[in-house]
Amino acid sequence: MSLTSVPLSEQIRIVFFGLRNTGKSSLMNNIFEKDLVIVSDTPGTTTDPVTRSMELGKLGPVAFTDTAGFDDAGELGSERIKKSLERINSSDISILVTRSDTPATKEEIAFIDEIRSKERPLIIASTYSDRPKNAEKTKLFRDLNLVYIDNIKKTGIEELKDKLVSLSSAVIREITPVEGLVDEKDLVILVTPIDSAAPKGRLILPQVETIRDLLDKECAILVLKERELKYFYDKLTIKPRLIITDSQVFTKVAADIPEDQALTSFSILFARKKGDLAYYIEGIKSLNSIKKGAKILVIESCSHRKQEEDIGTVKIPRLYRQIIDSTATFEFAHALPEAEKLKEYSLAINCAGCMVTRNVMINRINVLKENGVPCVNYGLFLAWANGLLPRAIERFPREYEIYRQG
Ligand code: SF4
Repeated sequence: MSLTSVPLSEQIRIVFFGLRNTGKSSLMNNIFEKDLVIVSDTPGTTTDPVTRSMELGKLGPVAFTDTAGFDDAGELGSERIKKSLERINSSDISILVTRSDTPATKEEIAFIDEIRSKERPLIIASTYSDRPKNAEKTKLFRDLNLVYIDNIKKTGIEELKDKLVSLSSAVIREITPVEGLVDEKDLVILVTPIDSAAPKGRLILPQVETIRDLLDKECAILVLKERELKYFYDKLTIKPRLIITDSQVFTKVAADIPEDQALTSFSILFARKKGDLAYYIEGIKSLNSIKKGAKILVIESCSHRKQEEDIGTVKIPRLYRQIIDSTATFEFAHALPEAEKLKEYSLAINCAGCMVTRNVMINRINVLKENGVPCVNYGLFLAWANGLLPRAIERFPREYEIYRQG
């Protein structure tokens, strides 16, 4: 697979943080050996994050992001800092770029504490290494992953890359869509409706990723629309190991195949890959006791083009009001609100998160857990609403058991 065909959400995220004018942009340019980022001596030249990808040894495809300085000035500056720090949640490896000749600031120390509290891999890139080193800072960073960099002479760059590769095992990797679910030479059927909601001339990202994963696992794949499923299924001489369907046609698919045929949905595969399937199942169980008139937050991770029968903003609220409570109110967002506001919600419903990393989704789920807000995702809610949930999660024993205990 070429680097450009690896979605950004699948690449290891490496993010540069630091004060203004510590050499973050020069370091990014030196890593890529070209001028990607405008470099100047004027503090605050990098206003918005810049991202660029490369192959990096054992780490595979990685995306480096340069961010605005912690100490960016003015009202716009504080917005940029907020945006930069939000990147901690989506970064797999953080690099604090700091001058070796100046004392550590409270922002830098707070940043290190934040990363340590999240137990995320961190590298300290200590720039201006040609100048006399600040003794206190050297002592402070002694036990961390420290690399000295001279951006002018371009020294320390290869050492930094080696250090990144050495952290490979500390990076939490996303599982692949069908990991642990199939074996070599299995036949898998993918049901992909082509309706007005389908993008013109292509398949959606979860479908493409699942096809690629099945090919990597030496499986055979039969891709069809829900209308053709019964016709082809009845003609098969080998039983498919698994059928994976779009959530929206789950009911039809389940009705067209034998009851003992293993079946799940793309959405459930991605709930497991990107999020916390067990917490989502707990969220489904909480629907039995959810209060009347509950306020529900639907979170979509990107602003995709909305259809008339949009799943998150139209179909799910309608189903919820039909099945659970006609007085419930729904609000929609692309990210979580502040904790005080968050506590007003009785339930959060996440999209599949195909465009964001697992780190982003897990961090979101952790904040929901901390604030006592149960959470489900689209696919699980649809499967449950259609009475198909036990069947759709049968292939995941731990989560199946959690559901059964309810
Ligand atoms: S599932 Fe979420 S991230 Fe993926 S396209 Fe829909 S809204 Fe965007």
